[in-house]
Parts: sequence; C-alpha cells; structure tokens
Amino acid sequence: MSIAMALSISCNYTAVSAQNQVRVTVKSNSTTALENVRNLVRAVGIPSVKSSPVESLQKGNWVKLICGASFEDVVDIRNLSLVYTLAGVDCIDCAADASVVSAVNEGIEAATEIFDLLRPWVMISVNDDEDLHFRKAEFDPEDCPLDCSRPCQMVCPANAISLEDRNSTSQLSYAANTNGGFKGGVLTERCYGCGRCFPICPYDKINVVTYIRDINSTAELIKRGDVDALEIHTSARQTSPFKELWDGLQDSIRHLRLVAVSLPDIGETTITSMNSLYSIMEPHLHCLNLWQLDGRPMSGDIGRGATKASISFARRLAATRERPNDKALSKSFLDISGFLQLAGGTNAHTVDGLRKVGLFQTSSSSENSRDEKLKVGSPSPMNASIAGVAYGGYARKIVGRVLSTMQSQQGAVRIEEHPEHLLQALREALALVGTVKCYDPSPVLLQ
Ligand code: SF4
Ligand code: SF4
Repeated sequence: MSIAMALSISCNYTAVSAQNQVRVTVKSNSTTALENVRNLVRAVGIPSVKSSPVESLQKGNWVKLICGASFEDVVDIRNLSLVYTLAGVDCIDCAADASVVSAVNEGIEAATEIFDLLRPWVMISVNDDEDLHFRKAEFDPEDCPLDCSRPCQMVCPANAISLEDRNSTSQLSYAANTNGGFKGGVLTERCYGCGRCFPICPYDKINVVTYIRDINSTAELIKRGDVDALEIHTSARQTSPFKELWDGLQDSIRHLRLVAVSLPDIGETTITSMNSLYSIMEPHLHCLNLWQLDGRPMSGDIGRGATKASISFARRLAATRERPNDKALSKSFLDISGFLQLAGGTNAHTVDGLRKVGLFQTSSSSENSRDEKLKVGSPSPMNASIAGVAYGGYARKIVGRVLSTMQSQQGAVRIEEHPEHLLQALREALALVGTVKCYDPSPVLLQ
C-alpha cells in the first residue's frame, strides 16, 4: 500500500487552510529532519492540535492505534506511540501492564515535545475470559529438528521468533538455549498471539499459552493516573465472567473517561448480549462508552478483504435502534453513548469500504429518516453513526518496517534521535490516519 494510494481516497470534506498549502521543503541532513517533521505535522493540519478525542468520536473521525493487548516490546511501543501521536490519533490502546503503559506515555510525551498537540487517550485492554488477543506462542527450540526450514519464523508478522543453529557462533541478546536443536525461540514480549505460526509447524511443536489479566493489578494500574480508558474483550456469549471482571474493577472505573467493550459478531444474539453487558455496566458507568466491533481479529495486515467483516458488522449495528446507546449520559451535554468503532481486519481500505455503504462520517438521528453528511466546523455536534476506526496489525506493520530498519542500523533507540527515520515513519502513519482524519494530503505527497 503506497502513501499515494492511501491518500488518493477522497474525503467527504477537506479543510485546507492557507497555512496548509505551504509546500514542505525537505532538507536532506539529519539536523534539519526534526524540523521537517514539525513542518509536515503543521502543513498537513492535524486536527489533534486543537480537537479533542471526544469531538473526534462525535464527528466520526476517531482513530485508535492498537499496540496489541499482548504486545509488550516497550521500545517499539514507545516509538509507535510517538509516531502515531504526531499523526494525530485520538487513543493508543496497549497491554494492561505498567511498563507498557509507561512506554506509551513516554512516546506521547516525546511527541508533544516535538509538536504541541493534544495528548491522545491511553487505553488498556483486558479480557474477561479466554480470548485470541490474550495468548502467546511457546515452543522449546531444543526440540526442533535441525533440518526444519523454520516456517514459523517466516510467517510471524511480529519478528517474534528468532532461531539459530546451535552451532552458530553469533550472539543472541536474549537467553538462548545451547543444547539440542536450535537456539532462541519465541521472543515473548513481541508475540501478540496472532496464531499464524500455530498451524504451520510441520512437527506440531508450538503450544498456545492463554492468560487472563489480573483484576486487582488492572485496578491498581487504572488508579495510577496515566490511563484514560479501559477496553474489555469479551466473547459476549455469557455474562458471568464479564460481571465478575466489572465488579472487581468498580472502584477504579471512576478514574476513566471511556470504557470500551470489544466483541465479535455473534449473529442474531449480538444485540441482546450488548444490552445484557450494558445493564451490568450501567450502574457504575460514569464515563463514555464505546463498542469495538471486532470483525476479523488481528488480520488487517493480510489484505483488502480482511476489512469486510468489520464493515458488515458495523453496517448491521448502525441500522438498529435496539442496541444500548443513548441511554447513559442522556441528560448530559453530550447526549451520547454507545459509540461504534471498527476493528479487526481494519486497514487502508476500511474507510473506502465504509464510504461505499454510506457509513463514513454520516449521522443518523431519530429525527432523521435517512443519513445526512456531517458538516465540517458545524457548531452543534452531530453524532456520527460510526465513531471511528481502530488500526492494529496494519498500523504496526507499516511503521514497524521503518522501526526494523532503524533498529538494524542503530540498535534499539528512540526514533526522535534519528529524525530521518521518524519522518519516514510519520509519512506512513499519516497515510493511514489521514484516510479517517481527511488531512490535506498534498504536503505528504510533495515530499
Ligand atoms: S503467534 Fe503470531 S506473533 Fe506470536 S510467534 Fe506466532 S506468528 Fe509470531
Ligand atoms: S516450524 Fe516447528 S519445528 Fe520448525 S523451527 Fe518452528 S517450531 Fe520448530
């Protein structure tokens, strides 16, 4: 997916100020590259310079970066957070782990030192039961036959498997096994449980390790003060694990600005389940609430078709008035709740797909029998049918390529110390985030 291709998707509106039309001149040496980064952010006209995450939810241009509920490589997470904050995301979703949350906040802080932006919200993800997002691959490399062609390593999108012949003289930076088959194995902090290696092993050596985030640790993490939002992953098929988790977190919920529930499409019972889950949350839900529609989990980097499931899920839910929205906060200034946000298979084709079905930045209200387009700068907020899009694997892949190159050349480093790489990563991130935010694409394309 090229930058030009991503940004060729036209938007319903594009606010281009005279300031944005200034051509960005890129200078080649690294001392000026950080200034080039600032110029690019300024020229593109990123809304989060002055527009809050709540406004984004209302307008339908909310963008969330999913670092991954199980992805715990703090160096990558910090750099991803920095890059996507500069690209204008509204929220960064990460593992419910203290070190990971600190890495996200550090990345956001570094970004706001480069350019004066509003901070995106930090969201942590937890699960109420077994869930695809909360698992890791595991195998003993000593058990692997030396003649294995290592397909597991080739298929892993996270570079989370590192294997070397035990006779290799090169050094590994992590604890390596030196007896038997290979040295190395799964780099646990990088494995996000996508599952692509599980079926590909010809010797059936790979195990799946599932886990559930501890409720008490999660509550303490929320109370720490640097978490804005919580996402609960649920199968939505039974409510008792959800209730147990919700009850355990109750004291901490008041510290949050938003609670999201991530659920798969379970067909005709989806709406009933959503209402049951909402009735559990409602007595202690004093903040915004969002439903993450997980169309095809962890597949956005696969291809164009991966986004279809999420779009059809969104289409079905947006068409019903039976879902639990407009209940919480109904007397508040926002009069909104139950935002719908896509995830699971989302990629650079998602906005195009939403537009085709008339759901991109359109609003349907009980007073209006048909959708109407949102107007830029409308003084009265209109609630978009679809609040926005979350990007996970695809977002990590396009920026991860730059991070890998940088790390192979420089080692594990802060990306702002190598601004030529930051500029390259930012262009990639803008190309994706811009499809939802409707940036002026010309400054990116001119470079
Ligand atoms: S589950 Fe996915 S991320 Fe983890 S090691 Fe296997 S292929 Fe890599
Ligand atoms: S494919 Fe299976 S046997 Fe081969 S290296 Fe990977 S885990 Fe070991």
